[in-house]
Parts: sequence; C-alpha cells; structure tokens
Amino acid sequence: MTRIAVLTSGGDAPGMNAAIRAVAKVGAGHGVEVIGVEGGYEGLIAGRFRPLTHRSGDRLLPERVVDLALGEGGTILGSSRSPAFIQPEGRAEAAKALETMDGLVVIGGNGSLRGAHALATEQGVSLVGVPASIDNDVGCTSLSIGVDTALNTIVDACSKISDTARAHRRAFVVEVMGRQSGYLAMASAVAAGADAVLFREQDRESAAIVNSVERVIRASFDADVGKRRVLIIKAEGVELPATDLVRSLNERLVDLEGVEARAIVLGHLVRGGSPSYLDRMIGGRLGLMALQALEEGAGDEMVAWRSPVEGGLDTLDSRVQRFSLERVAAESEALLDGSSPVMQRRMRMMETVEGVLAL
Ligand code: ADP
Repeated sequence: MTRIAVLTSGGDAPGMNAAIRAVAKVGAGHGVEVIGVEGGYEGLIAGRFRPLTHRSGDRLLPERVVDLALGEGGTILGSSRSPAFIQPEGRAEAAKALETMDGLVVIGGNGSLRGAHALATEQGVSLVGVPASIDNDVGCTSLSIGVDTALNTIVDACSKISDTARAHRRAFVVEVMGRQSGYLAMASAVAAGADAVLFREQDRESAAIVNSVERVIRASFDADVGKRRVLIIKAEGVELPATDLVRSLNERLVDLEGVEARAIVLGHLVRGGSPSYLDRMIGGRLGLMALQALEEGAGDEMVAWRSPVEGGLDTLDSRVQRFSLERVAAESEALLDGSSPVMQRRMRMMETVEGVLAL
C-alpha cells in the first residue's frame, strides 16, 4: 500500500480531526502517502484533494496542520451531504477519482457508511469506515466519535440553566439534537440530573407528553419535595415543539404561584467545541486501526469501539473490532427501528429510571 485517501462526510462531529491526524501520522510513519479529500463525497467526485503527508528526502512526514487540528471541533477537511453520490453514476465518478489510491478511510455517520458500502461493493474500492456521529446511532460500535463531547456540552448547558432555574423556581424544557435517535437525550438526562426525558422512541402522543410533564412539574414543586428547578430533556425527534409544550404547560400551571416553564433549544451548539479527551482518544485509536485494517487487506469494513454485539474481528487494540459494513447497516437499522437488543435494553433502563428521575 503506497497511497490512500481520507474523507469526512455527513454531520460533523468533534473528534473527526483526531481520526484524520491518526491516519496521516501513522500513514506517514508506515511510508503510506495520505491524501485528504476536501468536502466529503462531493469533493471526492470533483477530485478536490489535499496532501496530508509530504516527502522530505527519503522520509514521509505528516503536514503539521493535522497536529494543530487535534483540539479543534468540526473537520479540517470539510464535510458535505452529496446528492450526486447517492446515484451509481456519482459513485462511479468517485471511484475514478480514487484510481491512483490503494484505499480510502471514510469518517462519518450511518449515511456515509451506507454510501461507503455501496462504493466498495459496486466499484471494488478498498475502504474502511470510522463511525463519527454525535447521535450514537451507528450499529456495531458502543460509541461513535463526537458523542462524548456533545454530551459534555449538554451537561454543562443544563448545569448553567439549572442555576438560573433555581433562582426563579422555573421548569426548563431543554431540546437536544437527535431526530431519529434519542441517545443524547437519554444519556444526558441521567448525567444532568433531569426530572424527565422525552425521545422519539417512546412513541407518545403530544397530549400524553403534556400530561406527563405537567405531573412531573407539579410533583417536583410540591412543598414536601421542595425542588426549586425542574429539568426536562427532550430529543429533537419528538414531534411536539419545545415552545408548544411550554405554552401548554404554562396554561395549565397558572394555579402554581410563581412557577413558570421555559424552553431552550441547544441546536448546533451541541455539535461544536474542542473534542473531549475521550473523543480524541477514540478518534485516534479508531483512525490507527482503520489504517492498519486497510494494510491487512480489509475492503468493506468499519472499525468499532468495543462493540456491544458479537462477531467482530479483533484488532491489535483490545477496544477496537472490525465489522463488515453490511452488518453495520443492519445493526444501525435495528437501533433506529427499536428491534435491536441494545436499543431494547436502553429503553428498559430508561423506563426503570423514569419513575425515579423526578423524585
Ligand atoms: P451521516 O453520515 O452523518 O449519517 P448523511 O446521512 O447526510 O450523514 O450521509 C452523508 C452522505 O452519504 C450523503 O449526503 C450521501 O452522499 C451519502 N449517502 C447516504 N446514504 C447513502 C446511500 N444509501 N447510498 C449511497 N450514498 C449514501
């Protein structure tokens, strides 16, 4: 293997740069030229390349920009959603652009990994995927790059919101990203000490949501319970908008003197920021094992962080396993439609804590 490409695609996630850095540095160390693709699949089709290694005498060295990027959020290579790549003709163009490369590392979420699988099977491109998605909705991996930083941002925001909420005896509905996957809402609710959590997978009618949140607020502000703030974390995927929920609540809570509900949508704030220790470490270790998998001849796989499912191929790193991208796609679908045992376990855990969150 003498030359490979690396790209970041789909939703950006803090820690993507750590994976790019690992691929470039280890590639250089192994004598493999690493070429960055700018702007995901869109840039690949257009042939927008940028070297991440250079020759110095008989040595191959990484570009210093990859070190500088380690602590930066987003991705130095840029990302995109590419309608052209969804078509087979677009993928044929992409394969043509890769003709002089021996392999490709794709860092991205479920869509990007599905696209990578199509590129590998149709065009015979040797590639390895690295899961990066703040939603933690990629199958076969217990964590994707970006999840930890996003959760830390949410927990920090909730703690600041709680300070002001306590001062005024307020209930806050905090909306976090996650159209399909409620993972960020579930995990942050536990870590931020929320009183209730709402996510798409609960499949509740709007009226039932308003009723249950009203009950939580009334119970929490009961004189015996003595709470001064109520925190409700809601995933974006719950159709009832946070502002509508709060309006309905305030109409119903008029009898509770001095109590008020407010809504805040954290939105893209949750995607940004310097990656946490965990995201840098996961990014680096998955990047390293992706390069190694390519060197070992992997062609249509993803490297996973300590998988919750059986059947992966061990790597040198005891926390990283390799899975076929076909398996990853099936597991991801099962996570989103709720049939995955991993999702069912999460749901049972959330049901168990739901009754005690508000105590
Ligand atoms: P993420 O990777 O974060 O899930 P997207 O779902 O937007 O983000 O996917 C990123 C890109 O991957 C899309 O813009 C498209 O180019 C490509 N892609 C997504 N799904 C497929 C698919 N089923 N087949 C081929 N390419 C796909």
